[in-house]
Amino acid sequence: MVIETKFGNEDSVYYLNSKSELKLITVCEKCGGSGELELLNGGSVQCNRCHGRGGESRVLWLNEPSKNTSKIGRVGALIYGKESKNRKNKIEYMLYATGIGTGRVHNESLLFKELKECEEYCNIENAKSLIVFDREYGL
Ligand SMILES: [Zn+2]
Repeated sequence: MVIETKFGNEDSVYYLNSKSELKLITVCEKCGGSGELELLNGGSVQCNRCHGRGGESRVLWLNEPSKNTSKIGRVGALIYGKESKNRKNKIEYMLYATGIGTGRVHNESLLFKELKECEEYCNIENAKSLIVFDREYGL
């Protein structure tokens, strides 16, 4: 049996990093979203209704391309005799940048030879995440 992989050890690839954005989903009625209340004598204090958050917020997780490439340090393949819904074949990689052995495992479809491919993937996935977030929180 010959298992073909898209990448091999020591190949340089771009990968995905997560970045978070704090999104305000409701605005505090008392402070109008600033998180602060202005005092009559000047200055301000933290809003006592939202505790400075400005309202209710949720974290939106997005992808961004790694700034640099990393070399692959381990390639792993899991190939079933019969694939099914719960038994999907997968080829995974570990990168020097995110740790070999105990580091992050990267799916083959989430590694890219070119930065442009990685950016395009991030843009598409981020747009999908925004749609889901908007649907969930009605923004
Ligand atoms: Zn407030």
